[in-house]
Amino acid sequence: MGKTCDVCGKEIGLFGRFRYADGYICKTCYAKASRQFTETIRSKSLAEIKVLCAVKRDEASFENFKVTGKIGNYLLVDEKHGRICIPCNRMISQQVSEPRFYDIATIKACRIAYQPYMELTELEQLVKEQRSEQTIHYLKVIITLEDGREDAITLVNKPLRIKSYAFRQSFQFAERIQQEMDRLLNNRQKDNAEQDEGEEEYAAV
Ligand SMILES: [Zn+2]
Repeated sequence: MGKTCDVCGKEIGLFGRFRYADGYICKTCYAKASRQFTETIRSKSLAEIKVLCAVKRDEASFENFKVTGKIGNYLLVDEKHGRICIPCNRMISQQVSEPRFYDIATIKACRIAYQPYMELTELEQLVKEQRSEQTIHYLKVIITLEDGREDAITLVNKPLRIKSYAFRQSFQFAERIQQEMDRLLNNRQKDNAEQDEGEEEYAAV
């Protein structure tokens, strides 16, 4: 029994693998082969699976990226293909960087990060009150991938007072990004759960 994905060669564990006619593939390839969990792959051959996975081979570009939603210049969503893009934001980073693309299937979690530390509800309250002289040093939305890598959407990268308009504006964007990511991740989990019922056998092998 193979311990690597038949398509991309990535190592796969017992629960991160998905059965097709000839063997197993990883979750990332499964997302592509099943057209974002909308089709079953049980009866598909390796050749068929490879074709489906190759459709989006050119992932680091806007080709095949259909913008179905966006939040400011911080996050682009392609729900049709189950992907997101973090565009390069020159206003913030002050350097040219390439946009980054991720399959939603490969994203594990999303959280708002800032310094100094306080509870998010506390920061929310201070933003709402518009009175705090306290300074926040940075504000980011951190995206953690299934493989442990992280990426960050930077909203504030210099000290700003909580009561300032610039900070309040950025904080609103951070919350909207977090909400949108939560929605996308929840949808995915729902899809997975439905799929898992149909694929029960793969876990029992
Ligand atoms: Zn794979």
